[in-house]
Amino acid sequence: MSDNADRADLRIADVIQSALDQTRRAHRLHSDGRCQFCDELVSDGLLFCNVDCRDDYEKQQAALRRAGA
Ligand SMILES: [Zn+2]
Repeated sequence: MSDNADRADLRIADVIQSALDQTRRAHRLHSDGRCQFCDELVSDGLLFCNVDCRDDYEKQQAALRRAGA
């Protein structure tokens, strides 16, 4: 009985750990007052100056991931 409970605990810990990892990766992008794509000045808390830059940035990141970078 306790084996099942132990396995469930491990599984839950795994799920929490991967959620934490994902959150950490998402937070690697931080606002530094400049567009993350074109380096244009942006308002505090914003990562991109417009949706085009955000989309281009995401495309660039996806391409980098595909290339294994
Ligand atoms: Zn931009």
